[in-house]
Amino acid sequence: MKNLCWLRRDLRLHDHSALSKALSLGETTLVFIFDSYILEKLKDKSDKRLTFIIDSLKEIEETLQKKGSSIIIRYGDPAEIIPNLAKDLQVKNVFCNRDYEPYAKDRDSKVGKKLTSLGINFELFKDSVFYEKHEVLTNQGGIYKVFTPYKNKWLETFENSGKMIPEFDCHLKNLRQFSNDKNILEFDWYKELGFKDSPSLLPGGTKAALKRLKNFSPKMVDYDEARNFPAKSGTSDLSTYIRHGNVSVRDLLREGFSQNSQGAKVWISEIIWRDFYQMILDTFPHIVEGSFKRDYDQIKFPGSQVEFQAWCEGQTGFPIVDAAMRCLNETGMMHNRLRMVVASFLCKTLLVDWRKGEAYFAEKLLDFDLAANNGGWQWSSSSGCDAQPYFRIFNPYSQSEKFDSKGEFIRKWVPELAHLNAKEIHKPDPLLSSNYPRPIVSYELNRKRCLDLYSVVKAAPQEL
Ligand SMILES: Cc1cc2nc3c(=O)[nH]c(=O)nc-3n(C[C@H](O)[C@H](O)[C@H](O)COP(=O)(O)OP(=O)(O)OC[C@H]3O[C@@H](n4cnc5c(N)ncnc54)[C@H](O)[C@@H]3O)c2cc1C
Repeated sequence: MKNLCWLRRDLRLHDHSALSKALSLGETTLVFIFDSYILEKLKDKSDKRLTFIIDSLKEIEETLQKKGSSIIIRYGDPAEIIPNLAKDLQVKNVFCNRDYEPYAKDRDSKVGKKLTSLGINFELFKDSVFYEKHEVLTNQGGIYKVFTPYKNKWLETFENSGKMIPEFDCHLKNLRQFSNDKNILEFDWYKELGFKDSPSLLPGGTKAALKRLKNFSPKMVDYDEARNFPAKSGTSDLSTYIRHGNVSVRDLLREGFSQNSQGAKVWISEIIWRDFYQMILDTFPHIVEGSFKRDYDQIKFPGSQVEFQAWCEGQTGFPIVDAAMRCLNETGMMHNRLRMVVASFLCKTLLVDWRKGEAYFAEKLLDFDLAANNGGWQWSSSSGCDAQPYFRIFNPYSQSEKFDSKGEFIRKWVPELAHLNAKEIHKPDPLLSSNYPRPIVSYELNRKRCLDLYSVVKAAPQEL
């Protein structure tokens, strides 16, 4: 039986649900499509995420060529390409892994309808999350909207399953034997797609991902403490690989559950956050456009375009915020603690609409993932399902003193302040830092404005 396996955000050849199923049934061809709808929206023609994807596909192609096969690469509308390709190859099945984003669900439904009309079976598999929305429900059968009870139920479900972490065998024996003359190794795909070659700071692919996981493994024991400090490498730095599926969520959980420490528990919790946000997006797609708690859409943010621009460029005069934003602009990455600090700063200190920040992150982050990014922004702006209360406002000065106490991270990214000592650097005296911008707003004043602004939702003030 001939099958087509369509790779999307699962760029690997191991522990892959759809590929495993296809190979088990018979001759399998792999395809990846550069989706014109997604690529046309990218503003930056040197977008490093494209390099990351191409590198990941090159690794796949090298493995496939050794087995006498190749991955078909196309550019355009999947709803046209997949049915045509399936017809040309005379396959019986098209398999892929489920994607929970509204655009992807719509796209897959169109592809599915066309394939069905051609008499070709189209099947989607659970792969990118460990549990899907119907698998972790309240005792009344409802959807969890708060993380901690969701996590407890997730862990209980896992325990009740006998702690089973399936591994989807991909033996690579049934690959269609052919050589693709327009393969990813021999074609200049950047130029084909109208992009510029822009080396990524992260090498794409599974080898690099598994190496990171291996390096992180002995550090996991300290994760619960070390994860909060941007100048330390206390986290796995795997998010870009997880986003593109170079590793499976099961690879991560196998590693996490093989250890027995508080650090491992907290790390597993983060993987469960990821499932939680995917489940929320899958269930409540309105969050792509607006607040999870719809009341919060009443807030009219007064922050200006000038302030937003200063935030984007790392020129706000708040050192920890500027260091984080400059790091993002340069590397496409930002530490989780800093994502929370800059997100809170944008919507609760500059009083700029959080959706503008969300969109900026979507443009810049190598690990950009709609569910996690939206979840993070809605948490920070208090509009989300299990968000911090609106009166919790991160103080950028105390966050800086607490989590970058020696000023190491600031010194790295804001060289104008490199000469200041650990006491001076968090809130620099203009006399000692004349080439660094003065704060564009007063934190204290805007804290009060923020509480007024958010008074459409009522509760007592409190400071972090
Ligand atoms: C405003 C904001 C925006 C964010 N945008 C994204 C995004 O676009 N893509 C993204 O992957 N993460 C996002 N996060 C979550 C988190 O910041 C990153 O996952 C983390 O910094 C990645 O670093 P790491 O790989 O070293 O993670 P680790 O700390 O090692 O965690 C392991 C993995 O767990 C997952 N994870 C960790 N924290 C979270 C979380 N809060 N929500 C969902 N998954 C999580 C990630 O896949 C991560 O790689 C965002 C957080 C905030 C506050």
